Amino acid sequence: MDNIDRFGRKITYMRVSVTDRCNFRCIYCMPASGVQWRPHREILRYEEIVRIMRVAAELGIRKVRITGGEPLVRAGIVDLIAELHRIPGIDELVMTTNGSLLARYARDLARVGLNRVNISLDTLRPDRFRAITRGGRLADTRAGIAAARAAGLTPIKLNAVVMRGVNDDEVVDLAAQAKDGFQVRFIEWMPIGPLGEEFTARFVPGDEIKARIEAELGPLTPVRAEGPARVYRFADAPGEIGFITAFSAPFCATCNRMRLTADGRLRPCLLAPIEIDLKGPLRAGATDADLRRLLRQGIDKKPYAHGIPSESPHDRTMSEIGG
Ligand code: SAM
Ligand code: SF4
Repeated sequence: MDNIDRFGRKITYMRVSVTDRCNFRCIYCMPASGVQWRPHREILRYEEIVRIMRVAAELGIRKVRITGGEPLVRAGIVDLIAELHRIPGIDELVMTTNGSLLARYARDLARVGLNRVNISLDTLRPDRFRAITRGGRLADTRAGIAAARAAGLTPIKLNAVVMRGVNDDEVVDLAAQAKDGFQVRFIEWMPIGPLGEEFTARFVPGDEIKARIEAELGPLTPVRAEGPARVYRFADAPGEIGFITAFSAPFCATCNRMRLTADGRLRPCLLAPIEIDLKGPLRAGATDADLRRLLRQGIDKKPYAHGIPSESPHDRTMSEIGG
């Protein structure tokens, strides 16, 4: 099969970063000094993304996640979703967003074929939200969550990156949102970029988060593994709790994904500095067969496992790769 890698993993999922830009500057994602945005000419045009994804779908990609940076800051994003929705073979089209602009776009996104959204929500306190995102407004993201629900972009997953001394005292309050039907996912902070001692001091393992939640809200029963997430339920809540533990318990053995960076590189593993340029060949006149070969090369180069903690990626920030 064309989409099976060297270790027998079937690659069916592509995460597509549509921009390196963002209207937030989250402390775990971007350095305080900010990130130099890439000039527009370096970013894939929508028709280039659609062409790559059409070939990827022929190769066996079935699920596409639009991410960034913040995907909703890129003009024309609704049109891109509409185009991707038309590609035969892609049967799941989802987005990860900070939610701040979702109130404006949720209905249109749902109308043109977006299935669901994951929304980042690391705190329920407005002042803390502003501090973590370096300027974001909690009210905007909350309005976005409500709009997504009203538009049927469900089930909604709420993603929280937990950092000691920053928001770890809120894990119980965040988990309690499962009572409102959300899947609340706790993501271990990953050491991307130059972090060193800061990371050691602030990292909170998934098991510790789970124990703190169970001590207050009662036992969590395992439901299933969902990609990288171990998913649990409370006895009395309609929603779910997920844990994504890339650092403490890597899930590489079942990884089914590759990434397309905003500047047109295929990245077979988030945490390994291996990339294959697609934009250069595309702009130099590559045929669909050439693209197919390059995508296949990405599958062939997918490593068995990432090298963190000994080799954490310093080549790019999370917002550039597309988290
Ligand atoms: N801007 C959108 C958002 O925040 O949802 C999409 C892009 S963001 C890079 C995607 C996800 O990566 C978010 O859920 C964010 O919390 C997560 N993320 C960013 N940096 C991270 C890090 N160093 N470790 C773990 N998760 C991270
Ligand atoms: Fe922007 Fe998302 Fe990174 Fe926050 S996590 S800075 S919202 S890309």
